[in-house]
Amino acid sequence: MLAGLVVAVVAVLVVVGVTPLGMSPPAPERSAAEGFSAGRAMRLLREIAAAPRPMGSAAAARARDTIAAELDALQLAPHVQTAAAVSAFSGRVAGTASNVVGRMPGRDSSRAVLLVAHYDSVPASPGAADDGRGVATLLETARALASGPRPRNDVIFLFTDGEERGLLGVRAFLREDPWAYGVGVVLSLDSPGSSSPVLMYETSPGNGLLVREFAAAAPYPHTSSLMYEVVRRLPIEGDFRPFVSAGVPGMSFGALDGPGYYHTAYDSLANFRAASLQHEGDTALALARRFGDLDLWDLYREDVVYFDVLGRLVVVYGRGLVLPLLVLAAVVLGVAVSLAAQRRLLSLRGLGIAVLLTAAILGVALLVMAVVWGMYRTAYAQRTWSETGVVISDFYRLGLVLLTAAVIVAAYQWLLRRLRPWDLAVGALLWWLVGAVAVAALFPGASYVLTWPLIGASLGLLGAVLLGERALHSVAGVAVTLAGAAPGVILMSSATHLLLMSAGLKQVATVVAVWLVAGLLVIPLEVVRRGVRLWLPVALAGTGFVVLMAVGSTVAFDAEHPRFTSIHYRVDESGVGRWQTVDRIDEWSGQFLQEELLRPFHDAYFPQMGVRTTIVGAAPQVRLAPPVIEVLRDTATRDRRTVRLRLRSARGAPVVSLLVHSVVGGLTASVDGLALQGWDTTILDGSTVRWWFDYYAPPPGGIVVTLRFAAGPAVLLRAVDFSYGIPPQLAGLYDRRPPGMLPGRIGDGTLVEQTLRLPALRAASPPATP
Ligand SMILES: [Zn+2]
Repeated sequence: MLAGLVVAVVAVLVVVGVTPLGMSPPAPERSAAEGFSAGRAMRLLREIAAAPRPMGSAAAARARDTIAAELDALQLAPHVQTAAAVSAFSGRVAGTASNVVGRMPGRDSSRAVLLVAHYDSVPASPGAADDGRGVATLLETARALASGPRPRNDVIFLFTDGEERGLLGVRAFLREDPWAYGVGVVLSLDSPGSSSPVLMYETSPGNGLLVREFAAAAPYPHTSSLMYEVVRRLPIEGDFRPFVSAGVPGMSFGALDGPGYYHTAYDSLANFRAASLQHEGDTALALARRFGDLDLWDLYREDVVYFDVLGRLVVVYGRGLVLPLLVLAAVVLGVAVSLAAQRRLLSLRGLGIAVLLTAAILGVALLVMAVVWGMYRTAYAQRTWSETGVVISDFYRLGLVLLTAAVIVAAYQWLLRRLRPWDLAVGALLWWLVGAVAVAALFPGASYVLTWPLIGASLGLLGAVLLGERALHSVAGVAVTLAGAAPGVILMSSATHLLLMSAGLKQVATVVAVWLVAGLLVIPLEVVRRGVRLWLPVALAGTGFVVLMAVGSTVAFDAEHPRFTSIHYRVDESGVGRWQTVDRIDEWSGQFLQEELLRPFHDAYFPQMGVRTTIVGAAPQVRLAPPVIEVLRDTATRDRRTVRLRLRSARGAPVVSLLVHSVVGGLTASVDGLALQGWDTTILDGSTVRWWFDYYAPPPGGIVVTLRFAAGPAVLLRAVDFSYGIPPQLAGLYDRRPPGMLPGRIGDGTLVEQTLRLPALRAASPPATP
């Protein structure tokens, strides 16, 4: 009876920890004009996320027009800022970004509040979440702001282009748009997830004031300084970081559920939840109003520790309190331990053994879970579509947690039969103390996850010690230890859930978290052991096993879990068209690549992906104008040769690429004056490619590329232009993709090639000196 109560209470605490609370239902289209309505925002999202809108595509241009028209209707004087930039991730990728920017003048502006979202998507994804939801949120926020009292500060709405191609839009904005100067605070909205509340997961350094304002303004605040510690150490691709590098303070928001749908065709309206959009909008609007009325000249304060409690309130305190709280935890634990020793509940020898054996439990659990994970992967290896990550679902995580808990509870029960529960309880809390000290020293923002639970559990232990041996049988003993453990169970569950969703730390983080939580529950576990004996670990293991098997049995290629398969039509410089794929041949791509299958080449070229192994086969001929390489200047001085050329897609393709197909020495390159980088040498077509680069959304007149390299022998250049989708005149000849198949991340495409041979050139020999 008592045992059942303990299990039920712990289960409830875990559920409370991982359940995203604090989301209001989506407000309908006809709701108060000054408020954010997910109903109105969904109407915009349906328009924007109707199709994939990769940089340079017609769909991206339509999204841009929609955004500009909406801003225009709100009289926010939108302009399209067009400028070239080089990718933040690769010196071999550049493009002409077209950002849409609107501005709402304030009553008496100090500096501007800037809200940013990107309107481009990856090629095969409609990007409902990434970042269609951010775009819809900005537009509906602008409308709500315009309907309410005018803020003091100007509010800028920035819709960036080419985020997915390396933050091209935001880099172009920060370098060239005059509005980039005088921004006082930036609020960035970009989500991989489509159904959870948005988390405020990153801030600029010196976040004390930002976090307090967020806590005061957001109606359902969801945040954690644990994420600040984790995320700022990760190479996250997003529009927020360039602002921080430019010295602009701000915060970044996103729904982090997933990552199953992220960057796939799954990221569509069908998988999108309006409640998540309402939460994003309520947060964005509240913060725009809050910072809209604040003096934005000096937002820098000391970093703080912060976390939300059930999405209702935010606990915020200065980092100066991290050490005193840790000392408090150690003192409470010390009092409990000395009192227990005084009452002869503990012995030094027993405690020593308990410290060693509780650590051994962690080792055993890590080992067992590594074996289970390995077996699980092997069992479902042929049927995983791990590229989507859909298998890593909440159910999968649940199964993993249940199995881990079974191992750890069984180990504790085994030890409890041999050692005194008091020794084990103190041994486990000593490990908590070690962890709390280490985390406070290394990641002060994450210290709350260990320090507060340790204070709670030590108080619980103190209460149990005062009850003495009675604590092991009585409701009072269970109540006092469970109450002490409650903050820890909730905080650890929620922290682990956040880490599993975002950082991808899977088995190890799960095992460590379950081990830590079990360490808070030693006295209640003793009560359970006496009550239900072996049934608890058996039930945990059985349920975990059933859940994992159920998840595994859904791992198959079907309409809900499609196989990714793409086809490309490629015309070489002699005008011959071929089909090719970078994926496996399957039932669908087999109709393109039939019996005339050629041997695999290493000669495919894909923008941004470089050289890929492909399968190539014969295809019907379609006349497509090849890209044009026009030499503007070709000179040599001393031992250096400079070639200026204009590169242009005659068919208006959204991506053009240039490959230097010969080994040349000391190559440097620039496009329209922007330096390019990323040199290496690759074998392609049996010959060597010295260098290549991709340019997105080139202007109709083309781009001017300047190459400098060692003068000497002839050089072979190849231009490739890439458009999304296969030629329409061919598409009708083949079956459409059946359910269960989707275009992969790069999508279908058409590539047309052209080569140009630059003849040998050496500098004229210097005039003979007399
Ligand atoms: Zn994004």
